[in-house]
Amino acid sequence: MAESRPVLDIVAPFLNEAPSALAFAELLAALEAAVAERFGMDVHKILVDDGSRDDGAKRFSQVLTGSWEIVRLSRNFGKEVAVLAGLDQSRGDMVLIMDADLQHSMDISLKLIAELVEHPDIDVVYAQNDRREASWRRSQLARLFYSLINSSQRFDIPENAGDFRVMRGAVARALTSLRDKRRFNKGLFAWAGFRQKALPYSPENRASGTSKWSRLNLIAFSLEGFTSFSVIPLRLISLSGLLAAFAGAVYGAKVFFEVIFYGIAVPGYPSLLVAVVLLGGLNLTLLGLIGEYVWVTLSESKDRPVYIVRDVVRSDVAPDRLAPGAREA
Ligand code: UDP
Ligand code: MG
Repeated sequence: MAESRPVLDIVAPFLNEAPSALAFAELLAALEAAVAERFGMDVHKILVDDGSRDDGAKRFSQVLTGSWEIVRLSRNFGKEVAVLAGLDQSRGDMVLIMDADLQHSMDISLKLIAELVEHPDIDVVYAQNDRREASWRRSQLARLFYSLINSSQRFDIPENAGDFRVMRGAVARALTSLRDKRRFNKGLFAWAGFRQKALPYSPENRASGTSKWSRLNLIAFSLEGFTSFSVIPLRLISLSGLLAAFAGAVYGAKVFFEVIFYGIAVPGYPSLLVAVVLLGGLNLTLLGLIGEYVWVTLSESKDRPVYIVRDVVRSDVAPDRLAPGAREA
């Protein structure tokens, strides 16, 4: 038997990407050839079907070459969870995570891998989206989000860093030990630590279809980031409560003095209404926010698996591995 070469696992989650299956399989084949030639590594591909409603998994199984497996989840769990399902299957010396929609090019992938191969002291190289296409308002919002979420912790969640990254096997294994059910990968990557390096890039346009991120999705996802990684909103609540109480006290004192010393009648009705509506609204908003945290606590405390595997389809040459996330039906 030939001496075994280091293995690069490529993890790619997909949801309804049948139209780009052939093109992505070709990209993977080209990437595999380049990785073998430049770095002397074997490639194993781990695709995760995140509950697609089209026949993407079948399409992929027809067009993928070499060593691959397709993990089919029992339903749509979201990209963050699908990435975990892929990492759970991975045993490679290095792991590359990329999208299946052709937005992550072979060129950048090779650059990421080269960076990791050439720098033994670095454990993770991630692609940092330079967001050329984003509007000013959107990038300001993103900046605010990151400065808020990073304001009180020992690790920084870098801006514009997504799942597109390559890491050493040890990092991938560390990530799989984080079993958050409501996953915010950016935060988990940062939490896990290791030596990480950024490589700026601009994503390609989508090959087909549209992004699965709606504005509402983004808001919900940001909230997820806060509730899993930041206590700042809760502190802001306490602070605003304190401020409101203080303002109330000052106003109360003013009214008191006016009545006692100047005999001015209290103009009651409008100020009362303002106070009631303001505080009532604030109360409800903040109660909702606390509710978010309670909800996260509840969902994390249930002993459910993070995801369920329906089945795993493998190429003949793929190593036979058990899906650890899989539970017997
Ligand atoms: N994806 C997934 N599950 C989901 C949503 C998306 O596996 O619930 C996959 C999708 O098929 C693609 C990748 O995750 O390969 C990135 O998704 P998308 O292009 O919608 O996100 P964007 O590129 O806009 O960040
Ligand atoms: Mg995309």
